[in-house]
Amino acid sequence: MTKDYDFIIIGAGPAGMTAAVYASRAGMKTALLEAGAPGGKLLKTHKISNWPGIKEEPGSQLAMDMFEHSTSFGAVYEYGNVTEIRDGERKQVLCEDGTIFTAPAVLVATGTKERLLNIPGEQEHIGKGISYCAVCDGAFFRDKETAVIGGGNSALEEAVYLTQFASKVYLIMRRDVFRAEKAVIDTVLSNPKIELLQNYIPLQVLDNEGRVGGLEISHTKSGETKVLPVSGIFPYIGADPITGFLKDLPVLDKQGYMVVNSNMETAVPLLFGAGDVCQKELRQVVTAASDGAIAAQTAFRKLQESGFF
Ligand code: NAP
Repeated sequence: MTKDYDFIIIGAGPAGMTAAVYASRAGMKTALLEAGAPGGKLLKTHKISNWPGIKEEPGSQLAMDMFEHSTSFGAVYEYGNVTEIRDGERKQVLCEDGTIFTAPAVLVATGTKERLLNIPGEQEHIGKGISYCAVCDGAFFRDKETAVIGGGNSALEEAVYLTQFASKVYLIMRRDVFRAEKAVIDTVLSNPKIELLQNYIPLQVLDNEGRVGGLEISHTKSGETKVLPVSGIFPYIGADPITGFLKDLPVLDKQGYMVVNSNMETAVPLLFGAGDVCQKELRQVVTAASDGAIAAQTAFRKLQESGFF
């Protein structure tokens, strides 16, 4: 089946949803393609406190509000797990189920996917004590000891979130340098339920009757090892861009992030990138939204200049 649009947005996170608002308000026949639920990383974030105008609200609430807004001017929400984009006068967006979406302009706003620890015991305990989403699964660990791995904003924020359920949260960092904002670091350091273990790396996940029974860690300098009696493990060690379907187009850097200019244009005319999937310094909801607005506006202007409208 083929479906034709003026503008196809791949990914319904903050970047894609903002682009949908701008594109549909400009009058473009817009598709918002998503393979999961709308909201992107917002759905996995307990609270957002840096979206201007709203001091603090659950990420899921902001996701829902953005989604309602994104389709309120006519953008069509479509299901699609994209496997390839073919360039041409009308670009073709090929999906796993055989559907082909076509449009002269396409925006990729697929974000990033959490990195795995790649240690023994991880794969077989995913969903059995290992989770990459504290907001989704934290409540299963009421009065239990848990471990969070990482020293960035995600690890620290989710460690704090987990303390409302867990009896104790070990925060394991491979260095003694945080990558997080000072406000979050201060909150972590003042939380009596969080034990900070710096200069440790996870070695293996231990089993207890098919579920996580502990985590063996090793000191990076002394080599000392110890076992933490945790039943929940939450790795937050960064993320990789979701761009596998772009590998044949000249739009990625060595790490797989999209390379865009200040108008969110790639080296392929009328193929845009926005949000966390792009090579950038500051990955935030607000910067993703900004990217989406710029991409949609540029797409509209370029199509107008080319006589498409
Ligand atoms: P991140 O900032 O890249 O931090 C990843 C952390 O994991 C680092 O501490 C890193 O250690 C550690 N790490 C990486 N590989 C590891 C391994 N194999 N074993 C053990 N530790 C490992 O990732 P993030 O926290 O997911 O954040 C991603 C982006 O989203 C960032 O730009 C962040 O600022 C943004 N973000 C913002 C907010 C907010 O503003 N509220 C919230 C969440 C995320 P090293 O430092 O040693 O490399």
